Amino acid sequence: MHDHRKLGRELDLFDTDPLIGSGLPYWLPAGAAVRHSLEEYIREVERRAGYRHVYSPALGKRELYEISGHWSHYSDDMFPPMALGGEQMVLRPSLCPHHALIFRSRAHSYRELPLRMAELGGMYRSELSGVLGGLTRVRAIQLNDAHVFCTIDKVADEVRAALELIRRAYRALGITPARIRLSLPGEGGKYVAAPQLWERSTALLTEVLESSGLEYEAVAGEAAFYGPKIDVQIADGAGREATLSTVQVDFHQPEQFDLGYIGPDGSRHRPVMVHRAIIGSVERAVAHLIEQHGGAFPAWLAPVQVVALPVSEEEAPAAAAFVERCLERGLRAESAGPAQGSLGARIRAARLVPYQAVIGAREAAVDEIALRLRDGRRIDPRPTGEVLSHIGELVSGHRTDLW
Ligand SMILES: [Zn+2]
Repeated sequence: MHDHRKLGRELDLFDTDPLIGSGLPYWLPAGAAVRHSLEEYIREVERRAGYRHVYSPALGKRELYEISGHWSHYSDDMFPPMALGGEQMVLRPSLCPHHALIFRSRAHSYRELPLRMAELGGMYRSELSGVLGGLTRVRAIQLNDAHVFCTIDKVADEVRAALELIRRAYRALGITPARIRLSLPGEGGKYVAAPQLWERSTALLTEVLESSGLEYEAVAGEAAFYGPKIDVQIADGAGREATLSTVQVDFHQPEQFDLGYIGPDGSRHRPVMVHRAIIGSVERAVAHLIEQHGGAFPAWLAPVQVVALPVSEEEAPAAAAFVERCLERGLRAESAGPAQGSLGARIRAARLVPYQAVIGAREAAVDEIALRLRDGRRIDPRPTGEVLSHIGELVSGHRTDLW
């Protein structure tokens, strides 16, 4: 596997600047194109799975995190609060408290449950500068998060559905999990003290894992402070593991925020919160994608999907017209003409672009395109419209095969 920090710079995906600070990478246009496609994919699969998206601010009052429990259980990972007009403001360490408040802001009937609330939102972690590098240990994180508010008898279904979303996303992204971990509490005071709730949520997660036939390992000391979780682990080239996706069952925060819905009996009941992240941190997901694919992303994620290579200046107008048609089709395309070197040099420079269209006199004359695929295969000349609709289908289907 590759080192995403090295490739990220070579491929102009992201970088850092000492004046912005370590652990605070910025995304260059090529990296932003990958990230945008990934975020759009996630929003689309969530929409289809019945989630509704919200936006919430990346700051909140200290009091909010005292109620959620983050302040007493998680403050080592939080930035120090900022004093503002007699109040203390905190960069949020998670999105859950905001989503609990959004749920609480409106009355809910049992008919609205399960209520699935999703957001790709910012959060912050005060990583020590010594462990920062690239996109894997960052201080500003874009989290693919969601909370499902539901009755206890729907929790297993929601956990199962979340695991299925994760499985499908991994297929589209071309990544393989290293293992699935059932993360349980360990010794010490890091966890909220409510033994009955821990037992119930652990039993629910275990039941789903057992009935799904997935292989998993139970590990003590890796739970969230408010509940156990299923973690989908990925590994880098050196075999170092990290959690990419997670599904958690939480009885604690609904209690802390006094969440309620009106049941069929007309009285107020407490929902359960299922926390779930398909790709977790966008930064970590892209880092893993870079390492996994060595920069040769699946076509739907590629910064440039189609490159037009006119053989000589004669064909430059035909190449420009082809690029225009690609852009109209919603594809990311550009032209690399003779000013950028010999044809051989331009083909080498475009080696990570999935579709390379060499445009000679013949193609320019008859409105046909001959393709070189990134993996070395060649596709014989065929009408431009046909080529574009085939590429368009592969891209919109989030396929990992090139042709
Ligand atoms: Zn959460």
